[in-house]
Amino acid sequence: MKVHVGLCQDYGDSQRTILRALEELGGADRFFRKGQKVVLKPNLLKGAPPEKAVTTHPDFIISVVRIVEDAGARAVIIDSPGGPGNKRFLQRCYEKSEWTRIPRETGAELSYDVSYSQVPLPHGRILKSVPVLKVIQEADVIINLPKLKTHGLTVYTGAVKNMYGTVPGMTKPAFHGQYRGMHRFARMLLDVHDASSPDLSIMDGIVGMEGKGPAGGDPIKMNMVLTSQSAQALDMAACRATGIDISKVPTIRMGDLDPKDVELIGDTPPKMSIKHPVGGMVPWWVPEFMGGIFANMYMKRPVLYPDRCISCGDCERICPEDAITMKKLPRISWSKCIRCYCCAEICPKDALEPR
Ligand code: SF4
Ligand code: SF4
Repeated sequence: MKVHVGLCQDYGDSQRTILRALEELGGADRFFRKGQKVVLKPNLLKGAPPEKAVTTHPDFIISVVRIVEDAGARAVIIDSPGGPGNKRFLQRCYEKSEWTRIPRETGAELSYDVSYSQVPLPHGRILKSVPVLKVIQEADVIINLPKLKTHGLTVYTGAVKNMYGTVPGMTKPAFHGQYRGMHRFARMLLDVHDASSPDLSIMDGIVGMEGKGPAGGDPIKMNMVLTSQSAQALDMAACRATGIDISKVPTIRMGDLDPKDVELIGDTPPKMSIKHPVGGMVPWWVPEFMGGIFANMYMKRPVLYPDRCISCGDCERICPEDAITMKKLPRISWSKCIRCYCCAEICPKDALEPR
């Protein structure tokens, strides 16, 4: 499975880099053509300014839109961020991430359609069906646009995990509660990816995130764009380029692609060694019924920085286990908390951090 590596110093050069990748993978017309509806699924974990590197950069999305439009196809952009699955919240996230300028600068549609329906998964690893946004289901072509970031729970978040955003609103934190433990969670993510099976993944690794990802880490110049038809192959290539051990990434470990089958083409990838968490999931060898006890004894807790908290209550609303009670400040019940870190991811002030 081929992964194209394109070295790229800044977003101004991203269109040329992506175009070269498509040409070297067989030509853009292999992936989309005139008259088709091409749905772009970037990373909108939450509303955050582009320079924080939490979301796929709007200039990167614009570059892909321009290539799609030059081919005579129509581009539609959608994601479901962490939080309530309603239009108002989506609008807020789009604005904060500066994605609202994309339809002003191109002919793309920024979709506010939060409707969804169940997609059957008769051969799912753990899911038999999954709710998926209708916009995704109605696409002729799906292009996955992940951001290269670290992740407190899964070590790294990339192409496979980015498709988790096709699942609507609060179903995502609910799945955290339902599919605990590294193996179950990874199998669920792989099933969600398979429910939509993106035709192409193009990763924004120009500025990525190291340290306490996926929301509270540090932006870092990585200067690369990775492109592949296989999200799993792309994730392996991204981890290798950034010094992350692929055996520690649950979606790679539980995936079905042999690392030997990944072929890199294009430029020589950089040899980096980014700061990343060791991963915070209950390991596979802990029996399901012991998961809560293990989490309580050995896993990092989401700790509050009271001076940063604005008492918005978002953490209380997203917690899948009702472990947070809002007084003036949030209070967390450690016996209920399953260490999913959804609260830390959604906090608009980075007032909760796993420690
Ligand atoms: S911790 Fe963050 S999400 Fe929770 S109430 Fe405070 S600011 Fe809001
Ligand atoms: S308190 Fe935070 S980490 Fe714990 S279960 Fe709730 S959302 Fe997850």
